[in-house]
Amino acid sequence: MTPQLTGADPEHISISKSKGIHIDWKDGHRSEYGLKYLRHHCPCATCTGAHGTPPQAPPIESSPFQMYQPPLRILSVEPVGSYAIRIAWSDGHSTGIYSYDHLRRICPHAQCAGTGAADKS
Ligand SMILES: [Zn+2]
Ligand SMILES: [Zn+2]
Repeated sequence: MTPQLTGADPEHISISKSKGIHIDWKDGHRSEYGLKYLRHHCPCATCTGAHGTPPQAPPIESSPFQMYQPPLRILSVEPVGSYAIRIAWSDGHSTGIYSYDHLRRICPHAQCAGTGAADKS
């Protein structure tokens, strides 16, 4: 039996600047986040509309009206304390601080998405 863990504690993080981020959690869960998925889930106030403005996060699918969209890339990832990482994107956005808690919540698995209580079965 595994001990009680919050789950939002990464054991290992691997970063591919052109593909995305892959996290192995201490409870054995494994999450893989694509670039667009991560960018779409940017938790900063601008992207989530926390200041009463409309959310600015770009859609996961690129707009058909967009003539050209340079491929999204991660420019840099820096740790923020021991609880989060800050991602700087090639589109100039760099204010998103992704806490491990947030990352765990947005785990792309169908059974994880949005519930925040993935491993209770
Ligand atoms: Zn943002
Ligand atoms: Zn998951």
